[in-house]
Amino acid sequence: MYQFEPSRVLFEERALEYPLGARLWERFQDEQREIRLIPSHNRVTGLPGISDAEKFREAKKTLVVGIRRTKELASCRPSADYQLVLSTSCPGMCEYCYLHTTLGRRPVVRLYVNIDEILAEAARVIKNRRPQFTAFEGAATSDPLPLEPYSGALSQAIEFFAEQEFGRFRFVTKFTEVEPLLSLKHNNHTEIRFSINNEEIIRKYEHHTPRLKERLQAAAKVAAAGYPFGFLIAPLFFTPDWQKSYTELFTSISAYLPRNAAPTFELITHRFTSRGKANINAVFPASDLPLDAEGRRFKFGQFGYGKYLYAKEEMDLAKEFFGELIPRCFPEGKLLYFV
Ligand code: SF4
Repeated sequence: MYQFEPSRVLFEERALEYPLGARLWERFQDEQREIRLIPSHNRVTGLPGISDAEKFREAKKTLVVGIRRTKELASCRPSADYQLVLSTSCPGMCEYCYLHTTLGRRPVVRLYVNIDEILAEAARVIKNRRPQFTAFEGAATSDPLPLEPYSGALSQAIEFFAEQEFGRFRFVTKFTEVEPLLSLKHNNHTEIRFSINNEEIIRKYEHHTPRLKERLQAAAKVAAAGYPFGFLIAPLFFTPDWQKSYTELFTSISAYLPRNAAPTFELITHRFTSRGKANINAVFPASDLPLDAEGRRFKFGQFGYGKYLYAKEEMDLAKEFFGELIPRCFPEGKLLYFV
C-alpha cells in the first residue's frame, strides 16, 4: 500500500476559498508537518537542501495546494487531443521522468482545487467539437493517482466523463491504489493505463514507485471493474537482450489477465532533451542512464525543443518486433502507437 505523505504542505492563499482547499487546510492541521501559506503556487521558495539532489528530493516531498489558472487546454499528441491538468509532478523519483525537461530541478507536487472550473473548460471544448469525440489526457503533467486520496480529482473526472457523450478521459499511472475508482460509474468513457517496464529497469531507475507485479495486479483490478485499460511501456531501452527482456515482460502481463483481455499498448522509445539530461545529471549524479548523444538521432518535438532518439533502423526493428508480439500475446489487444 503506497500513500503519499508530504513533509510539508504549502497553500496558495486563495485556494482556501475553494471547498477542497479549505478541507485540505483542516486535514493537514491535524497532522505533524510544516504547513504554510504562499502568495502563488508558482512561487515556492525556502525549501531545504543544499545540493541539487537534496533540493529535488525535498521538492518531491512538498505538496502545493493551488488554483489552476491557465484556461487554454494544451494539445497532447499522440495520447489524446488535449491535456487535462488536475495536478503537476508526482512523488515518484524516476530517473528518466518525462517531466525533467519541463518541471526542472524543483518539481514540487501540485494539486489544484478548482476541479469544477477545469472540467467546465473541458465541457466547453467537447461542446465546440461535437459530433467529433474529444479525448483528454489526465497524466500529461503528473502521475495523478498518488494525489487521489487528497483531491479526489480522478474520481470527479471519471464521473464527469461518464456523462459526456462526446468526451473521453484517459490517464496513465505507475501507482496502484485504484480501489476508490473501481466502483465509480465510468460508462467505458475512461481508460486507465499502467506505465510499466521490465523488472530490471524498474528496479534500477524508478525509485519510490510500486514494482511491476503490483502494477499488473492493479491493472487486473481495473480490467475486472470493466474499465477500458492498457499499458504504456516507456521508455523502451534497446539493451543487448531487449527482445528477450520485453518478451518476458509480455509473458508477465499475460499471467495477470485473461486471454481475451483487450488492453491497448502505447510504446515510447527512450529519448532525452539537452535540458532533461542536464537536470538528470544534477539531481541523480550517480545515474547510469544512457544519455550519450552519440549514436542518437536529433529531432525537433511538438513543444519546440529537440530530442535525441534511437537510430531509425533500431526503431523500425523494434516496431516490427512489438507489432508481432502484441497480437501473439493479446489477440484482442491493440497497439495505439509506437514512437
Ligand atoms: S511516476 Fe511518472 S510522473 Fe512520477 S516520477 Fe515517475 S515518470 Fe515521473
